[in-house]
Amino acid sequence: MPARPAPRRHAARKTPAGPPFRVGHGYDLHRLEPVPPAGDGRALAVGGVHLEHDRGPIAHSDGDALMHAVTDAILGALGLPDIGELFPDTDPRWSGQASHAFLEHAAGLARQAGYAITNIDATVILERPKVAPHKAAMRANIAKALGIDPSRVNVKGKTHERVDAVGEGRAVEAHAVALLRFVSARRASAAAAPRPRAKGRRRPGP
Ligand code: MG
Repeated sequence: MPARPAPRRHAARKTPAGPPFRVGHGYDLHRLEPVPPAGDGRALAVGGVHLEHDRGPIAHSDGDALMHAVTDAILGALGLPDIGELFPDTDPRWSGQASHAFLEHAAGLARQAGYAITNIDATVILERPKVAPHKAAMRANIAKALGIDPSRVNVKGKTHERVDAVGEGRAVEAHAVALLRFVSARRASAAAAPRPRAKGRRRPGP
């Protein structure tokens, strides 16, 4: 009696199933100093929004603490090295880098791992100027960099009640939490709509 043919094996999945959800936390702080000519502070950017202020962050990149915190939240959820390891401040490529590039890179790493971003919740602590009038624009900027709807991004603004360095206006601080859900690499990539690239203003990305 002829041997029965071996059952056909299904092709191995290219992306092993990961945990259904992963959560990550990010934190950042940048010292604020007077802008030129009085000091070396960069123009104050928070969530990709330029805030008029006589002080700005000391940073290798543009010093956007909110975008850095969100980037680290996503990297943390993926169990990857943090933003300082991926984009070291000793690398001239990141000098003055607009921070949406870091977010775009983190979102790409999430998609490669098969994860979609469910939502982001972030808090900016800045004594002045007020964050509230700019929250919608910050949410839109972060969502655009991540390739998700702004409804999935929340930004809250607080002061530090005039105490400690942040309250004395000597620093800007941000916290962020990211929740990712496993959808498979193919679906995660398909979910990211292609975005037009700004012309002329981009430096070499990661
Ligand atoms: Mg930073």
